[in-house]
Amino acid sequence: MAGVLIGLSFYLLDDRGVEYFDLSPYDYLGFPLPMRAIGWLGHHHGVQGTGAAPMTGAEMEQLRAISRRLGSVTLGWHDCDFCGAFEGNGEYRYYLPDGQIYAAPMMIMHYVEEHGYRPPGELRDGLRAAGQPQWDWRAERLRAVLLDQSEDPDFRCQAAVDLANWNDPRGLDALWHAAHDEELADVAGDEIGRSLAAFVARGLASNLLAEDLHVMVRYGIDEASGR
Ligand SMILES: [Zn+2]
Repeated sequence: MAGVLIGLSFYLLDDRGVEYFDLSPYDYLGFPLPMRAIGWLGHHHGVQGTGAAPMTGAEMEQLRAISRRLGSVTLGWHDCDFCGAFEGNGEYRYYLPDGQIYAAPMMIMHYVEEHGYRPPGELRDGLRAAGQPQWDWRAERLRAVLLDQSEDPDFRCQAAVDLANWNDPRGLDALWHAAHDEELADVAGDEIGRSLAAFVARGLASNLLAEDLHVMVRYGIDEASGR
């Protein structure tokens, strides 16, 4: 086990994964936007938030609704520290309308449902107010990263994943350009396709279906739309 000090935040890293205090700055993986950690539980700090009120049915539904699309599935699989019966890979990124971004592990729902984890009040308040985020500086930044050929390909891939959070033609336009960037489509085509499928489902991009697209982009669209 090793403790790693990076910038102002401290996280614990061992063969079982990464552990954060809730709301710490998230810096496990590089990301083009500042995020705060939610639900990165482990055996050192145990289950956090157990003194808080239980999640209501409505809160559970809202959390489930924003936990649909995983990013960074390259994180690697690891088992739940508390029961060993569940493994997760990847993270959810929550773009709340109040401007905050939270990164949560795939296992967050498992922690809530099976181990009595309660996310901090900041997230629960944000969930109650949640709706579709409006186009803002976060979306602008992701759009710029996606379109910049000198950017890290993994950042561009994560930007393609997250731009689907905004129901806005500027996001669709950037994804369309990314789909036609041969080099990027070779490595991130399936994620670009999944994001484009979200716009097709909103009725904004039906003309895409007839287009001659990169095979990986087409694959992502078909997978996401269950074709
Ligand atoms: Zn467990």
